[in-house]
Amino acid sequence: MDRKWTFWFVTGSQNLYGPETLAQVDEDGRRIAAGLDASAHLPFRIVPKPVLTSAEEIRRLVLDANSDDDCAGLVVFMHTFSPSKMWITGLDRLDKPYCHLHTQFNREIPDLGIDMDFMNLHQSAHGDREHGFIGARLRMSRKIIAGYWEDETVLRRLGDWMRVAVGAVAGQSLRVMRFGDNMREVAVTEGDKVEAQRKLGWQVNTWAPGELARRVDAVGSADIDRTMNEYVSMYDIATEDLDSVRYQARIECAMEAMLREHGCEAFSATFEDLSGMRQLPGLATQRLMGKGFGFAGEGDWKTAALMRVMKIIGGEGGGGTSFMEDYTYDLTPGRELVLGAHMLEVCPSIAAGRPRIEVHPLGIGDREPPARLVFEGHPGSAVLASLIDMGGRMRLIVQDIEAVEPVYKMPNLPVARIMWKPMPDLMTGAEAWITAGGAHHTVLSFDVSAEQLRDWARIQQIEFVHIDADTRPERLERELFLSDLAWKLG
Ligand code: MN
Repeated sequence: MDRKWTFWFVTGSQNLYGPETLAQVDEDGRRIAAGLDASAHLPFRIVPKPVLTSAEEIRRLVLDANSDDDCAGLVVFMHTFSPSKMWITGLDRLDKPYCHLHTQFNREIPDLGIDMDFMNLHQSAHGDREHGFIGARLRMSRKIIAGYWEDETVLRRLGDWMRVAVGAVAGQSLRVMRFGDNMREVAVTEGDKVEAQRKLGWQVNTWAPGELARRVDAVGSADIDRTMNEYVSMYDIATEDLDSVRYQARIECAMEAMLREHGCEAFSATFEDLSGMRQLPGLATQRLMGKGFGFAGEGDWKTAALMRVMKIIGGEGGGGTSFMEDYTYDLTPGRELVLGAHMLEVCPSIAAGRPRIEVHPLGIGDREPPARLVFEGHPGSAVLASLIDMGGRMRLIVQDIEAVEPVYKMPNLPVARIMWKPMPDLMTGAEAWITAGGAHHTVLSFDVSAEQLRDWARIQQIEFVHIDADTRPERLERELFLSDLAWKLG
């Protein structure tokens, strides 16, 4: 799943200034690139490119970036004025994420040192405006970051965007393995897979649950023993029914082998189509999510793929990213909270403590009681994200939430759970979510910000809706109405 992603640092100029000035521009660009590359806030390498001064050089650089599988984006800065007509042919062909870093080489104006030569050399305040125009004129999907290149805020924001860019570019080769179709009659998990592949790159295909069942039966005892040893080292075994736990270890080994054989980084299953399997994958699915795979239940390939992308964007954030469902409310006045869980499948990356393995009957389906990880989620600021198909376009809905320590022990609830306060409050937030058409299936992440998801939606050219502390229902309704018109026109 890992690749050595790089970002190309591109400095723009023109030939008007003469070779000496251009040599200085080139050197300054390289120093900025080296400074960025040395920052701990940037998760991937920055590669400096020679200063660009002509349409042909720019076109060539863009074509090279497009065809370089390791290049996840361009970070572009106009040290001097760089007339933008020379950028049109190149930028029109760019299919990598693009960040316009509006900075300048010097932090301060040298009081005695500034003369006309200095002004001509250090004029990104001027040149980046010309460059901004052509980005707007070409309707480019751009990230714009303004600020001094050594400032921590700038470095942090650039680092966050780089993760998003990698999530988008990695999506171009993301494969999703579906075992079975959607849960019967469910609408929100449907969607246009052709459009998803065109817009997001996701390849969504199906594999027979019967093949998985055969692979599960064929897993050898050595693999099961090795997996059981991992369980013992990582979790408390809170059941006597080790046979059920071993069966989930079987499922985990078989599923992971199939996913890796086919290069799939996300998957979905459905309790309505388990073929010859004795249990719904519970613990097995939780473990695979913990290893970084994307997942969503009941055939929901959109949420599964979105979760994988958010795992990539979140990186080693440490807070965790999980498949999630809104389940039940606590409507105590002044303390309204959502209880989030799923039948089984919550990712242990969001656990507050050491999970327990338990075995309990499942209320639905007709299989044996499945083993599962049971734990409480940890508190903290997080987001919920839902990707829906509006017919002709995808809409990404993101809500800010504050996860809290569960206010109830819930000793008889046999699944992993987490409680949160949605922004701006439960009732307004729920009304906004329902108005926007957000699903009951979401991805919950402590490691990905709403700004990052907005950046991702912009790169992918899909609709973005944000529900935050300032959301007002009437404003949101108008925003959705206007957005719908715009997307229909587009
Ligand atoms: Mn569900």
